[in-house]
Amino acid sequence: MATGSGQSRLWHPFANMAEVKDDKFVVDRAEGVWLYDRDGKRYLDGTAGLWYCNVGHGRTEIVDAVAEQMRRLDNYFTFNDYSNEPAEELARRLSGLAPMDEAKIFLTTGGGESIDTAAKLARLYWARRGEPERTHLISRRQSYHGTNGLGTSIAGIEGNRHGFGPLVAEATRVAYDDAEELRAAIERIGAEKVAAFFAEPVIGAGGARPPEPGYLEAVAKICAENDVLFIADSVIGGFGRLGGWFGVERWGLRPDMITFAKGVTSGYLPLGGVAVSARVSDVFWEAPGAPFMHGPTYSGHPSVAAAALANLDILERENLLARSRELEKPLHDALLRLADHSAVAEVRGGTGLIGAVEIEADILAGDKGLITRMQKAVRERGAIVRVLCGNALVVSPPLTITEAELTLLADTIEAGINA
Ligand code: PLP
Repeated sequence: MATGSGQSRLWHPFANMAEVKDDKFVVDRAEGVWLYDRDGKRYLDGTAGLWYCNVGHGRTEIVDAVAEQMRRLDNYFTFNDYSNEPAEELARRLSGLAPMDEAKIFLTTGGGESIDTAAKLARLYWARRGEPERTHLISRRQSYHGTNGLGTSIAGIEGNRHGFGPLVAEATRVAYDDAEELRAAIERIGAEKVAAFFAEPVIGAGGARPPEPGYLEAVAKICAENDVLFIADSVIGGFGRLGGWFGVERWGLRPDMITFAKGVTSGYLPLGGVAVSARVSDVFWEAPGAPFMHGPTYSGHPSVAAAALANLDILERENLLARSRELEKPLHDALLRLADHSAVAEVRGGTGLIGAVEIEADILAGDKGLITRMQKAVRERGAIVRVLCGNALVVSPPLTITEAELTLLADTIEAGINA
């Protein structure tokens, strides 16, 4: 047992606990792009945690901002008319950065909660507009939208949707790379029944898949033509990961809502939210009526907001969005060196600081544990990568990584595959 005396009682997300309970990788501390285990051995954080640690680890500036806020007002809620200055300032700042007119910012404690917030808001918006039949939610195959109720219902990764009994029936999935399938689905269901379409700009958990050229612009147009709300899930893509603040700027998109989380605090504290365009928010902010009966306890938590504000300061001051844009080609080039490897089927990337090395199916066939052994072999050699879709090693490093460290990351992946 790697975790000290006694059997572990910690149930890990997405883990096969029968195996993990006796064999854990315990991270002890972190600094910049490096993690350290309890023996002091260091590992390059090739994934920035779960795609979130955009400014890197060990930023005392964020720690100090949170400590200072905690000494002043540790926590207080924002239901009804209660407010606090860090939450107000964060909303103002995010509103100014969001690619939409007069964005309103609904804060949550993570990505999945933000998805469910956006889905409920979409349905309520239509109900308030006098079209209560517009309840259908459309998403893409291979998409990941968190593990809450509605996020599970619209999950595009099959395995994440099954085994839980009946989910929301009004959910449809379309191909992730074919805009015409969206058009056909809206026609089949009837536009008057469709509330919203959810899309990650770059599919993350479903295998790190950049969009086909023109795809996102086309689906945005199809949504507009059918009066369907377009909701960008930028939980991974935001705060520099795709080179912009909300991850959709590079395609010139102006979604009706954008969900965000992760990089907004670089993971220092749990935070998510929804940027809501005036089209949707006006129905609630400008007209009297019943409130949006929804919201987690910690919405607008002042100490979490302080972490986000300090994180935004770092992203701005160190020009990390531009840095991400500079690094996306070197990352892709470093991974492309593996494209000719006999074990490699495909290298994906080049759109943001996200990349995947997919392993040949016939090498993985008949040995279910091989891809995990590859990932562990990479880790033993000093770098963290993730396994996604059962066939790909995926990276999404902190935006502060150097080109030399990107090369080291690719070399370590190669060494792990060879092993
Ligand atoms: N949406 C996307 C695109 C994600 O990648 C994730 C998490 O990885 C989520 C939503 C869910 O976020 P959380 O794990 O914070 O609930």
